[in-house]
Amino acid sequence: MARYTGPVCRLCRRERTKLYLKGERCLSLKCPVSENSDRQARAYPPGMHGRDRQRQGSEYLVQLREKQKARRTYGLLEKQFRNLYEEANRRPGVTGTNLLQFLELRLDNVAYRAGWGASRAQARQLVRHGHVTVNGKRVTIPSFRVRPGDAVSLKGATRDNFNVRRNRDVLDRSVPGWLETSEDGFAVAIRIVPQREQIDESIREQLIVELYSK
Ligand code: SF4
Repeated sequence: MARYTGPVCRLCRRERTKLYLKGERCLSLKCPVSENSDRQARAYPPGMHGRDRQRQGSEYLVQLREKQKARRTYGLLEKQFRNLYEEANRRPGVTGTNLLQFLELRLDNVAYRAGWGASRAQARQLVRHGHVTVNGKRVTIPSFRVRPGDAVSLKGATRDNFNVRRNRDVLDRSVPGWLETSEDGFAVAIRIVPQREQIDESIREQLIVELYSK
């Protein structure tokens, strides 16, 4: 499945917020959206007229930006995201929560939440390159949806990979409560489907539902 391969900091600038797409750099003063950036702070939309562009506060614009923010955070293209929404809408329960749960249960996101990848893009690459197993079987599909009871682990040789070790030691992200991590941190079990309060993304999912249900 295709993915966005262009510059990513401009996506954050477009949304005027940090989407944490670049791993360690996002936590440093090199981040252009950071208020304390040691580079020229550029927390305005990219492009020649980004700085001059006035925000029009229409309802549609607010909903659109929220959808784009969620889609870019998880690294999906429009069609994938729309399909996921349709599925969330067909399921019983709250559509917005279903959508976020589907996004969180993607295998690349689990590898990210486990702290193996510095960013979701790096975690996705770990999956694509066959470094991640689900219940002992290699799975190379980033969108693979894990279920409660599944065991996700990093393959043996990958555990010694410099980047993976560095991500675990330096970034030191805490693993969310819906995952149970092994002692060495190279395997996680899916305890439950994540509840909304366990998903620490500042996404207003109701706006996405309103946009798509027009
Ligand atoms: Fe976004 Fe990270 Fe780039 Fe900052 S450094 S703009 S958070 S991708």
